[in-house]
Amino acid sequence: MFYRTLKPNTRSFFVKQIQIYKSEKSIINCYTFVFKIVSLLFFLGVNSVFAQNNSGFNIIQANSRAKAITGFVRCATVEYEKKQSEKYSNKPSEKEFESWMSAKVAQVKKSKANGRLAAEVYNIPVVIHIIHNGDDVNSVGNIVGENISDVQAKSQIEVLNQDYRRMLGTPGGINSTGAAVDVGINFYLAKQDVDGLETTGVIRHQITPYTNKVRNGSGGDDWETYEDVQQVKAVTQWDSTQYLNLWVLRLGGKETDEDGLNGVLGYAQFPSNSGLQGIELNGGAASTDGVVISYDAFGTINKNDGSFSLNDVYNQGRTATHEVGHWLGLRHIWGDTDTCENGDYCLDTPNATEEHYDCNTYDTCFNDGLGEDMVQNYMDYTNDSCMDTFTQDQKNRMIAVLKNSPRRVELLSSIRANSPLYSNKDLKDFVVDANPVINKTSIIGFAEGIVKMTLFNSQGKLMFLKESTDDDTIFTQELDFSSLASGVYILLIENEGRKIVKRIIKQ
Ligand SMILES: [Zn+2]
Repeated sequence: MFYRTLKPNTRSFFVKQIQIYKSEKSIINCYTFVFKIVSLLFFLGVNSVFAQNNSGFNIIQANSRAKAITGFVRCATVEYEKKQSEKYSNKPSEKEFESWMSAKVAQVKKSKANGRLAAEVYNIPVVIHIIHNGDDVNSVGNIVGENISDVQAKSQIEVLNQDYRRMLGTPGGINSTGAAVDVGINFYLAKQDVDGLETTGVIRHQITPYTNKVRNGSGGDDWETYEDVQQVKAVTQWDSTQYLNLWVLRLGGKETDEDGLNGVLGYAQFPSNSGLQGIELNGGAASTDGVVISYDAFGTINKNDGSFSLNDVYNQGRTATHEVGHWLGLRHIWGDTDTCENGDYCLDTPNATEEHYDCNTYDTCFNDGLGEDMVQNYMDYTNDSCMDTFTQDQKNRMIAVLKNSPRRVELLSSIRANSPLYSNKDLKDFVVDANPVINKTSIIGFAEGIVKMTLFNSQGKLMFLKESTDDDTIFTQELDFSSLASGVYILLIENEGRKIVKRIIKQ
């Protein structure tokens, strides 16, 4: 109706603005695309230094059994870490890492004994990247596939908080050991993106898998190789010193021992023990740091509003709980060996010779004096519905990593889960005419009264403030960037209590 009241010449102007708006969007998309291609080329360049090894994940014995028993590879972190060791010659051996870890765990225990860690709670900002091929977002009555609903995505954060805070009413197993502790880690969806602007923390990326050798089932495009997932992580990741990155995608293709990812539910990148190597830390590249989860093992059926697409068995969000445990330095409770040695370096998780798949009673190492195998532990392979325990020693390891490991330690001071300084309120029809800007650009939108425009540089320093009124129905104001240095700027536009923030790039 508003459109019809415009004078014909204004109406044609409006149409032009819409075209400009669309071209602005395409410019931004183009810029983002170019940036991502450059990132990808850089990433590929880095990788080409190392020998390509496409011999697959060489799955561990436990995963051969898991695949045979359940049809799924419960967790490919051990295999992923082996691939990382092949790529990064500076990656520490298990012995080297655990030597570092035991010293850090001792410090945590000492601080705890002194009462300094008693009530500490740690907050971690999280970004969820949903990688999809253009399918509709799943909604009630229209469940398509890997482009999972916001409700499904957010339900995973609830599970992480229930499990890492041992919340009352946390769905789980029998906890017969009584060993479950509150780990004291809260997970928050990011409220600020990498530039400090408003975000929901759930980001959708339409990216077609780079390799499509084997179509897996009826779902369409799937991510088939370790290398492809490494690349898509690198081009979509948000700074891993500021966010825990969770990637949700459709994994598939060939079997794991043929370099495929068929049946894999998830895997994580282990923490580093030294920052001496700079950006390519010894635990693996910063650009691939985070956790990968199959779209149908992400979130919990307990929160299903009818839009969820979940695995029949692994459907309570414990794949992510388990993988985040690895990301914080935990190992499988049976130690990935078939012996009774203390393979997870935690004295309060009974030794075990193998993984488990149900909540029945087992004691595979009855001589350890520690009692039955802890099938309820999040770091076993049990069904989601059976799990409910992290122990005190596991907590000590995770806190030691959070307080000392490069990147993880920086997360503790990340402000990305805080409300953004500038949140957008209803001024969404405003556009930046030319962006990136060479010298001048125009701000165009619908507004009456005074429009205030404040420009900050990327460090938050005020660059200029301009107040303007425009009697036309459509507000237009030219802004001059010619004296400003190249880089990213943030423009806050305010009009009668409404506001919007724009990211402007000066070339
Ligand atoms: Zn695992």
